[in-house]
Amino acid sequence: MGKILVIAEQRDGKLKKSTFELLGLATQSGNETSAVLLGDGVSGLTKELEQYGATSIYLIQDASLKFYSAESYTLGVLEAIKQASPDIVLASHSPTGRDFMPKIAACLGVGLASDCTQAQISGVNLKVRRPVYAGKATVEVEFLGQGPRLATIRPNAIGAPKPISAQTAKVIPISIQFTGLKTKVIEIVKGNSARPDVAEAPAVVSGGRSLKSAENFKIIEELADVLGAAVGASRAAVDAGYRAHRDQVGQTGKVVSPVLYIACGISGAIQHLAGMRTSKCIVAINTDPEAPIFQVADYGVIGDLFAVVPLLKEELKKIKEH
Ligand SMILES: Cc1cc2nc3c(=O)[nH]c(=O)nc-3n(C[C@H](O)[C@H](O)[C@H](O)COP(=O)(O)OP(=O)(O)OC[C@H]3O[C@@H](n4cnc5c(N)ncnc54)[C@H](O)[C@@H]3O)c2cc1C
Repeated sequence: MGKILVIAEQRDGKLKKSTFELLGLATQSGNETSAVLLGDGVSGLTKELEQYGATSIYLIQDASLKFYSAESYTLGVLEAIKQASPDIVLASHSPTGRDFMPKIAACLGVGLASDCTQAQISGVNLKVRRPVYAGKATVEVEFLGQGPRLATIRPNAIGAPKPISAQTAKVIPISIQFTGLKTKVIEIVKGNSARPDVAEAPAVVSGGRSLKSAENFKIIEELADVLGAAVGASRAAVDAGYRAHRDQVGQTGKVVSPVLYIACGISGAIQHLAGMRTSKCIVAINTDPEAPIFQVADYGVIGDLFAVVPLLKEELKKIKEH
């Protein structure tokens, strides 16, 4: 039996759903599954990691971990890897995972497969599939040589398991001297959006340049509210100042894999598709029947979004009410 270490991700004292997805992947492989949890005052989260199948939890708590930084996380994760000696290390392909995992790989001198949309674990072997050329193709990757196999998995790409109740994990506190750090995060100024993040939400409603103004995005927001979805945007909409860059989906924005992606007035340029084509169900609303977005859409509506989106919202509202 091999050993898998999952790097748990928490923000504001709440574990991310992607952590449960990784724990599900690890436990289903039949390998021994441990997790490393980093933060300041986060010991209360170990119970949840236990419920999702971690049998050992490496707990690293320190004031230096109050806010994420690649430097402090790397120190912590490297120590957990030293103690757990895993065959496979899994992290989410979140903004933090994609930031610190290459550093871990470089420090250990091992390979990293990033942004994986499928993973197959057989014993200590890990085979993954990841998109290349802006999502035009995918490649299958397996690891060669010694040392742990590292991978970051795209959030929502694999399903989250149900928690298991009868399970007890060993909590192993690790104490590290976080001295000599070259940088320190003093404060995080949050954006004023109360909506879920596009990269993590189970449903995303996105708008493009055709919305014509920031105010018009209100109809996208209203549809998103009915669905409990995040609001996304094309780069053209972001460049025009209709939405903040954090909402941008695509090659130079965020990569999303929700259960439902509704593209409203988005042409479907290759750079946009790179960020959303792995969505489970794609709905496109566009006046142009030749728009490339229809080539990846599961459902297409040829029509004016200013008419279709409010109608869709009303119909979904009715379904919800009944
Ligand atoms: C290096 C690089 C990186 C890039 N990265 C990204 C990225 O991360 N994300 C991204 O999105 N783009 C990115 N782009 C830009 C990309 O190439 C496109 O220009 C952009 O995606 C177009 O946005 P859009 O679909 O909103 O606008 P447009 O291409 O102008 O399309 C608007 C669409 O709306 C339809 N439409 C118009 N009016 C209506 C209406 N009333 N109702 C319904 N449909 C209507 C039109 O038929 C058209 O299909 C990148 C480009 C480069 C060169």
